Amino acid sequence: MKQLTLLLTLLLSINVTAQTDQDVLKTIYSQSLTNGKAYQWLDHLSNQIGGRLSGSVNAEKAVQYTKSELEKLGVDKVWLQEVMVPKWERGDKEVGYFTTINNKIDVNICALGGSIATADSGLEAAVIEVKSFEELEALGDQVKGKIVFFNGAMNPELIHTFEAYGGCSKQRYAGAYEAGKLGAVGVIVRSLNLRQDDLPHTGSMSYMDLPNEQRIPSAAISTNDANKLSEALQKDNNLTFYFKQNCQQFEDVLSYNVIGEIRGSEYPNEFMVVGGHLDSWDLGDGSHDDGAGVVQSMDVLRLLKESGIKPKRTIRVVLFMNEENGLRGGKKYAEEAKRNNENHVFALESDSGGFTPRGFSFDCSDAVLNKVLGWESLFKPYLIHYFEKGYSGADIGPLKNDNIVLVGLRPDSQRYFDHHHAANDTFDAVNKRELELGAATMTSLVYLFDKYGTNTLPEVKQFKD
Ligand SMILES: [Zn+2]
Repeated sequence: MKQLTLLLTLLLSINVTAQTDQDVLKTIYSQSLTNGKAYQWLDHLSNQIGGRLSGSVNAEKAVQYTKSELEKLGVDKVWLQEVMVPKWERGDKEVGYFTTINNKIDVNICALGGSIATADSGLEAAVIEVKSFEELEALGDQVKGKIVFFNGAMNPELIHTFEAYGGCSKQRYAGAYEAGKLGAVGVIVRSLNLRQDDLPHTGSMSYMDLPNEQRIPSAAISTNDANKLSEALQKDNNLTFYFKQNCQQFEDVLSYNVIGEIRGSEYPNEFMVVGGHLDSWDLGDGSHDDGAGVVQSMDVLRLLKESGIKPKRTIRVVLFMNEENGLRGGKKYAEEAKRNNENHVFALESDSGGFTPRGFSFDCSDAVLNKVLGWESLFKPYLIHYFEKGYSGADIGPLKNDNIVLVGLRPDSQRYFDHHHAANDTFDAVNKRELELGAATMTSLVYLFDKYGTNTLPEVKQFKD
């Protein structure tokens, strides 16, 4: 019986072209769910290495680990692509509290990535709360000498939580810039989290072209504490807020994108990319953002091989460095692709967490999307139903041109921002099965695009509105 199974597997693997696409997808999903490696790799990345902020020792360890694991897969080529990345360190755990007439209340804060430190003794000032940049602008000079508290909350009515995130991420990114221009002395930003909890969520911020003397420290505060502070301010707007952080920006350091490829058998000069980003924030271990995308992308190469698929086009896994605070890896990869005249026809990124996959968003022409919709029925048995036009991913964005099809894996996003950039973005928050379904879903799309090509996709008869 065992021999028979082996024989059947062998026959299946050498005879993929004779199989229907349904059969091939079934093989891919079965392989991922019974023999996937993504979870095991994620365990190492998260628990043996941990948070991987650009320029850190852990980021370097992650480069070496993923490179050696890709080499073990026996793909055609594995290499490192040099890229200079910013290096920022958090330093000691931040301290924050506010003082009212009667009370001193401790709050959970963390420095935003790229922020300067406070003085060694900390920073204490009166607080002025705003919920938007318009409110800040209307206050003008009144914020001088004060700490601006950006308390815009993510909109819970939006089903696509990334839209809610997009709706207020500017206060985190540019809050210190806008408040600094007006003479504020510090910035506290409500964490971009739909849940009420005690965890502060970090993320990148920028001073843009602001002169040094206008650059002010900025920190995130947990959603529970943001509410507490807001309520306290209503009763006593003379309260003072104290915080202390000693983060630091260093010179750029050398790091790498990690790349592995299977050469195409018919069109080796047409490149298809699948990837995620290797760096992560430092508070947790970066399991969802974006350890999941990294290991799923690595498993695409392995699942293609294990499922007996010999790609016609060259399939590359690219593990990008520095998505979080610079996007240097994504920019570098696109720059090199252009310099080498590589014809990239497709790129798929997984950077929305390791949750149950729902489908894809496509950044491509209507004509291509209409063809892609012909594959919807193939994905139906796996409960993959979301095929819409939309955003793909930050790292693959720089590859955009008129011909390439850019795609983002879209997992269920309801719980993503509970973990995003916070101390609870950890391995235990990733479900093995959900992660594997994501890897299989990605591999299936890569298989279909490789088989039919971006210009020769089968026409779909029923068009979608
Ligand atoms: Zn990410």
